Amino acid sequence: MAELNNFSIDGVKCMAREGTSILEAARQNGIYIPTLCNLDGVPPKGACRVCSVKANGKLLTACTTKISQGMEVENDTPGLNELRKSIVEMLFVEGNHLCPSCEKSGDCELQALAYRYGMTVPRYPYFYPKRVVDASHPKIVKDHNRCIMCKRCVRAIKDKKGRSIFVFLNRGFETKIYIDPELAGKLTDELARKSVEVCPVGAIMLRGEGFKTPFGKRKYDKAPIGSDL
Ligand code: SF4
Repeated sequence: MAELNNFSIDGVKCMAREGTSILEAARQNGIYIPTLCNLDGVPPKGACRVCSVKANGKLLTACTTKISQGMEVENDTPGLNELRKSIVEMLFVEGNHLCPSCEKSGDCELQALAYRYGMTVPRYPYFYPKRVVDASHPKIVKDHNRCIMCKRCVRAIKDKKGRSIFVFLNRGFETKIYIDPELAGKLTDELARKSVEVCPVGAIMLRGEGFKTPFGKRKYDKAPIGSDL
C-alpha cells in the first residue's frame, strides 16, 4: 500500500497517499481547487489550466501533479485566483456562450466559476466565432458555440470496447468535437445522457428534452461551485 505523504495547502497541514494528484488530495482534505476539465474516474488532461496552483513555488496543474512529502501548495491566493478568472474570461470570449438562453445555465461549471471569481464583463474582446449547432445525431445536439475543448466527452464516453465515441476534428481554432461516424450508433440512451452530464457547459444536449429543471432551481442556483468540493 502507498505511503502517506504530509503536505500543506495554503499553510493547512494535509495528508494523502503517495501518488495522489494535488487536486484529489486537496478534496480528500476538504479543500476545493477549481477545475473544468478534470472528471473523477477519468485520466487527467491538464487542458483547462483552471486548477493551476503553485507547488513548492512552481506553477503547475493540480490535476496532473502528484503530491510529495513536505510539498507546500499555494491555492487560494489573490494571484492564482486572478489567473483563474482570466482563464474563465478567455473561455467566454473565445466562444459564444450567451448564458441567459443556455439550457445548461445554472448547471454550467464555466458560468459557476465566472460567478465565483466575480466576472461581470470579460476584459478581453469577444471573438464572435461563426460556429454551428449540429443536430444531426438522433440522440444529442452539439452546440459548437459553447464547447470549451475540455475533452471530458472524449475521455469519458466510450463504447464497450473502450473506443472513444467523441473525437476532436481539425486543429487550432478550427478544432471541434465530432462523433466518430463508425461509432455513432454506439451512443446508447445511457451514454447520450452521460455525455450531457460530463460536459461542463451546454455544448451537448439531449434531443427532445430541455429545461426540465426550471431556472433558479438548478445545482449552482442552490449552492456555489466548490461548496460540495
Ligand atoms: S463537448 Fe463538452 S465535454 Fe466535450 S470537449 Fe466540448 S465542452 Fe468538453
